[in-house]
Amino acid sequence: MSPIHVFGGGLAGCEAAWQIARAGHDCVLSEMRPVRATPAHKTDRLAELVCSNSLKSESENTAPWLLKEELRKLDSLLLRAAQQARVPGGHALTVDREIFAQEVSRAIKENPRIELRREEATSIAEDSITIIATGPLTSGALAEDIGRLTGAERLFFYDSISPIVEADSIDLCVAFRASRYGKSIDGSDDYLNCPFDREQYERFVDAILAAEAVPAHIPEDNFAANAPTGNARFFEACLPIEELARRGRETLRFGPMKPMGLTDPRTGRRPFAVVQLRQENLRADSYNLVGFQNHMRFPEQTRIFRMIPGLERAEFLRFGQIHRNTYINSPALLTSTLQLRSHPGIFFAGQISGVEGYVESIATGLVAGRNAVELAAGLGVRAFPRETAIGSLCAYVSGADARNYQPANITFDLLPALEEATRLRYRHDKKARHAEVCRRALEKLDEYRASVNDPSYA
Ligand SMILES: Cc1cc2nc3c(=O)[nH]c(=O)nc-3n(C[C@H](O)[C@H](O)[C@H](O)COP(=O)(O)OP(=O)(O)OC[C@H]3O[C@@H](n4cnc5c(N)ncnc54)[C@H](O)[C@@H]3O)c2cc1C
Repeated sequence: MSPIHVFGGGLAGCEAAWQIARAGHDCVLSEMRPVRATPAHKTDRLAELVCSNSLKSESENTAPWLLKEELRKLDSLLLRAAQQARVPGGHALTVDREIFAQEVSRAIKENPRIELRREEATSIAEDSITIIATGPLTSGALAEDIGRLTGAERLFFYDSISPIVEADSIDLCVAFRASRYGKSIDGSDDYLNCPFDREQYERFVDAILAAEAVPAHIPEDNFAANAPTGNARFFEACLPIEELARRGRETLRFGPMKPMGLTDPRTGRRPFAVVQLRQENLRADSYNLVGFQNHMRFPEQTRIFRMIPGLERAEFLRFGQIHRNTYINSPALLTSTLQLRSHPGIFFAGQISGVEGYVESIATGLVAGRNAVELAAGLGVRAFPRETAIGSLCAYVSGADARNYQPANITFDLLPALEEATRLRYRHDKKARHAEVCRRALEKLDEYRASVNDPSYA
């Protein structure tokens, strides 16, 4: 049988290659470093962690824990290496990055079924099974070929993420429901609007202007330092709010905070400015702050966004971010098995497939690797159960709204809601609800492993 090709020896690519070899199939893994560098990687090691050394929470019954627990059950190479490289890090799975990369590199190099080639992949053969896992800093030549396959307008180079808050934490005595000029999609009022008076707005702008920015990891992302020199490479359509504030004190009020077409029912007047919150999912248990992509440190975002009237006690599920990130508009292109709809032999995994984060990248690498083997063996490729964190990530990647797609980390928000009766039983106990979601996920994963005859299933 012909080998399966994996492009990119990062987190997703190494996990994919190892899963392929583990299933008894041959694999060719192409990694361009050290022949060609990226702006973030510092070594020629496989699976290099480019920034933080944390694989997030190990606290039981949290969403990041669940994702890792599922990967451990599926015998993930990278989770095993993380355990070997673990260093004290409180509730997080924190690793010594050198030992981590060393362990993964060793396992890949020693595996007789994996041929590691140090070369840049520049084009995708449409007649062989290929997994594209070249990450957020995919080289230009390959990006061009991906654009050829997917349509250039479905390939993005920057991530611009708005913060998300829990619905329960929004003060509905202050925030009011309305759509601009009463225009809404389905006749209901689509947005929650947080109204500002002039004084509140001025204080908010001052806070944004004084906020501490996230230190940049690669020169292209150094927004704050580049802005005054005119070297910042922003897309004008999704500028960070600090950049808007820097352009003039009124700019936000004429941009994402414009109050036109809105009347505050408490005063009967148009507010001086508003922040609009848009429902994030069908359950309506989370809302995003529309147009509030930013580059501020996370604690600064908590402090400053709690100055927004109605969000004084907001709980954040996700913070705003902007950074270099090559990714495809996956809901328009991929199936939940991570195959390109137009070319089922081509899989995407890792950041480029539209997920965000180290463990999410590993998880999609594992899915693509396993599914590529099933395809090569002529078996039907099956999606992971929707109730699992892995299945939910794949469902998000392939099924979110393609018009407004933003890569996501794993959160409980992506997992399906519990049945009505269970939800009602635990409605005042969030911890118990989360524990139940995790229990259900792991049970479904066991059923899945038993049904696919997974050798790691005991
Ligand atoms: C600067 C930066 C900082 C980040 N910090 C964090 C963080 O702290 N925590 C977190 O959870 N996530 C972080 N991320 C996001 C993401 O989790 C990581 O980028 C993660 O490494 C993604 O895994 P991956 O396998 O998709 O890509 P990578 O791990 O980057 O692997 C892709 C590999 O493909 C290679 N490659 C690229 N093009 C080609 C080609 N044409 N041919 C062959 N090889 C190629 C690259 O050299 C690289 O080794 C960060 C991203 C960036 C860009």
